[in-house]
Amino acid sequence: MWEPTSRVLPLHRVIMLGGEGVGKSALTLQFLYNEYDEYEPTKADIYRKTLQLDGEQVQIDILDTAGQKVNFVIRDSYYPRADGFLCVFSIADEGSFQATQAARDLVLRLGKDESVPFLLVGNKSDLQKERQVPLSECQARAHKWGVTYVETSAKFQQNVHLVFYDLMRQIASRKASISKAKKGGKKRGCHACAIL
Ligand code: GDP
Ligand code: MG
Repeated sequence: MWEPTSRVLPLHRVIMLGGEGVGKSALTLQFLYNEYDEYEPTKADIYRKTLQLDGEQVQIDILDTAGQKVNFVIRDSYYPRADGFLCVFSIADEGSFQATQAARDLVLRLGKDESVPFLLVGNKSDLQKERQVPLSECQARAHKWGVTYVETSAKFQQNVHLVFYDLMRQIASRKASISKAKKGGKKRGCHACAIL
């Protein structure tokens, strides 16, 4: 289950989005354990890991989604608490690229604003010969959404760490600016009291 926030370490909650078979589990398990092909394809799971992010120790929770039924539960209980999203498709599967639009819409509909930490991830970059989605189309979609586009290969460990670290940096920086804004707000509040 999704555990309560650690009191000690910052916790960044990430959800893997995307159609079936695009490589969400492969990316997750490559990132966490440097493993490939050692997992059950239909399984949805939550993983937690402690790691170093720019000199600071943090925890990451990764919710690896699978299947429509699970998504329904996840939607109501986990999405509101997520800090960021990796929206994955396969560059060798046009349908999975089209499905990213629904994933993006869902995230926004569930109350996240457009600046929510979010990466569009074109996985299976090793399958260039079977490529169905032109790079320019992927970049155009990311540009339209105002997000970063990265191509990965879970199979060959390409850019796998990069996408997770990029997302965690976006999350950390967003949390820092929110907390700064809150502190600023409090200070302004005190100032107003003093004037009164
Ligand atoms: P999920 O349903 O999104 O979790 O997809 P999986 O991680 O289960 O991957 C589906 C299939 O695609 C598996 O057979 C994986 O071995 C394969 N796969 C995942 N990532 C890659 C990749 O980067 N390159 C290639 N060629 N195959 C991949
Ligand atoms: Mg999976």
